[in-house]
Amino acid sequence: MASHLIDSCIFCKIIKGEIPCFKVVETDLSYAFLDISPLAEGHTLIIPKYHSERLDEVPDQYLVDILPLAKKIALSTGHANYNLLQNNGKKAFQHVPHFHLHLIPKPNLEDGMIFREEDVARKVERPKDELAKTLEKMKEALSKL
Ligand code: 5GP
Ligand code: ZN
Repeated sequence: MASHLIDSCIFCKIIKGEIPCFKVVETDLSYAFLDISPLAEGHTLIIPKYHSERLDEVPDQYLVDILPLAKKIALSTGHANYNLLQNNGKKAFQHVPHFHLHLIPKPNLEDGMIFREEDVARKVERPKDELAKTLEKMKEALSKL
């Protein structure tokens, strides 16, 4: 297990017990702990016991372990309203370079994740031919993976 972790990463250190945390639950492949600066009570981070920065770098067996864990933790909070957030790369607001899935309960409108009005306003329906071109490019790329 330890061979997939690195010395310079704070989340790897949390997994190894070198930095304290409030552990929620762990499996052979994943580790879940409370976010140190929660957006709502129960805000949890779920991470693979494998150091990799972004989703596209995490081996599938680790990814497969994470979502059922998120489901259990969501149930444990007792809130039927919650968001899952997963940032990849600095431009996408990732601050800790070890893949992590946020589970953020949303008991009230003013708690948890809050979408900005500007983001909602930018969501306009695009022309169908534009969407079709995008789909063509993506399918081409997908066929080569
Ligand atoms: P990101 O912005 O990369 O998606 O999320 C990183 C999260 O890690 C933030 O919500 C931040 O509060 C949390 N975090 C950063 N350092 C620590 C730490 O040392 N311990 C814990 N429990 N959470 C941390
Ligand atoms: Zn790490």
